[in-house]
Amino acid sequence: MNCPFCGHEDTQVKDSRSTDDGAAIRRRRVCAACTQRFTTIERVQLRELVVTKMDGRRVPFDRDKLARSIRIALRKRPVEEERQERIVNGLVRQLEASGEAEISSARIGELAMDALHSIDGVAYVRFASVYRDFREVEAFSKLLTDMRPGEEAELPLPPVKRGKDKG
Ligand SMILES: [Zn+2]
Repeated sequence: MNCPFCGHEDTQVKDSRSTDDGAAIRRRRVCAACTQRFTTIERVQLRELVVTKMDGRRVPFDRDKLARSIRIALRKRPVEEERQERIVNGLVRQLEASGEAEISSARIGELAMDALHSIDGVAYVRFASVYRDFREVEAFSKLLTDMRPGEEAELPLPPVKRGKDKG
């Protein structure tokens, strides 16, 4: 494993341990050249998933990308990092267990929304606002009615219609 900071080939494992759910192993590493520390994560990959995008492109499933979008949705929300990791693990397992070789990006979005919905209303709406078209004000207000008191305060604002988009 090359050092991500200086590219040096000699990095040493200082510590390795399983994540709480046992689904992965984290290794703390240190670079022998620049002494920077970093973490690598090892996890089982059952099979290669292919994602079909809206525009018809087919790309390999990117776990990190899914994890990033979940993390962004949960930013500053009271959901611990370990739990966020478990959400992503759960989603990946669902995808792998589906038996399909190809999964649409829309389907992945739906599964992620379902997972977030049961965990944090604000994160759910944030995620949904990226995946769904929020020009329909009704759709947005319907989501609001599903929320618990106090959660509305942290919502992103619905997209503003630009004047020149008429028609
Ligand atoms: Zn280095």
